[in-house]
Amino acid sequence: MSQVKSKNLESKCVHAGIEKYEFGPVVPPIYQTSTFQFENTAHGAALFKGEKNGYIYTRMKNPTVEAMENAVADLEGGYKALGCASGMGAISTIFTALLKNGDHVICSKSVYGPTTTLLATIFSKFGVEVSFVDTDIDGEIEKAIKPNTRVVYVETPGNPTLAVTDLKKASDVAHKNNALVVVDNTFMSPILQRPFEFGVDVILHSMTKFLNGHADVVAGIIVVKDEEMYSLMRKTLNQMGGVIDPFNSFLVHRGLKTLAIRMEKHTINGQKVAEYLEKHPKVEWVRYTGLKSHPNYEVALKQHSQQGGMISFELKGGYKAGEILMDNVKFCLLAVSLGGVETLIQHPASMTHLTMGEAARKEAGITEGLIRLSVGIENYQDIIDDLEQALSKI
Ligand SMILES: *Cc1c(COP(=O)(O)O)cnc(C)c1O
Repeated sequence: MSQVKSKNLESKCVHAGIEKYEFGPVVPPIYQTSTFQFENTAHGAALFKGEKNGYIYTRMKNPTVEAMENAVADLEGGYKALGCASGMGAISTIFTALLKNGDHVICSKSVYGPTTTLLATIFSKFGVEVSFVDTDIDGEIEKAIKPNTRVVYVETPGNPTLAVTDLKKASDVAHKNNALVVVDNTFMSPILQRPFEFGVDVILHSMTKFLNGHADVVAGIIVVKDEEMYSLMRKTLNQMGGVIDPFNSFLVHRGLKTLAIRMEKHTINGQKVAEYLEKHPKVEWVRYTGLKSHPNYEVALKQHSQQGGMISFELKGGYKAGEILMDNVKFCLLAVSLGGVETLIQHPASMTHLTMGEAARKEAGITEGLIRLSVGIENYQDIIDDLEQALSKI
């Protein structure tokens, strides 16, 4: 077992969460078991009463899952983490744990589509009220606060507009009004953005994206700051049942080891591709947090250590131009999702945000020629060459 605990993130990526296991493996073994044997009734009783440390049943706790959870908690500077079956599993668990009938949520307007749907159509059935707000605009959260506001839910940078919310300001306003701040940190990862340092209460990730990084797992995680919140979330997750399994935990933990170097390369490539697109005559505008033209550039510089690989841009020529670009890329892969080693491109109006309808898209700032690009870790010239030939077809 590594004797030295490093405070440096790239070292944590490699070492975090690894405990001492039988036979001294360098990597946590995959405990692919649903349940664990008790030595006798007294041992079983002690485990159930929480008097002894150990394992009972994999939905409650599993050593492979725990190793990955500890690694992510360490990377975020949190107390503990809870592995979930998907990012949406993490989000729905958090809302279930924190909200009750009559509570009000303030949610960023530009968020992952299913998060909007979850609040607007499922939690509303249980009497939860929601306001979708431009949390990236100063003063908008404060204006939306009500006496029953319990949660301020922020995704930053937001999907797909890359709007950046000032987390320190959001936390200050929420706490002044006895509300909690929950942040979806999927786009940045703990390497580039550290929400707890700005006062945030709960962090979540879709680990399907950068944390795993290899487009071969669907998973999510919740990270909390203290035992009280951990216990509430753990009880909720245990009853709701949407936990991650040991094999996916193993894959995510393996992915985490290269997270820091991947994020560095995503940033190098993201900057190059964004600068290329910004000069292109067929591109109306580019949103990338590393460009001076980003409306929240100053906040992004303060809040992110590097700018990552997520870009959105608007084509001149709207929906049709979007279709032509999608049908002509040959190196970038035409697929939804993001945060993997491969460059993925998608057109929200005809794909992820299609069913919203044009009016709701417009309201959320999702224009018809908007393209979302998740820049991978390939050679950036290959990405640029592909965009060049595909853009020439428009
Ligand atoms: C993908 C994504 C989610 C949902 O995660 P799943 O793992 O697909 O359930 C939530 N938030 C953001 C920002 C995402 O990109």
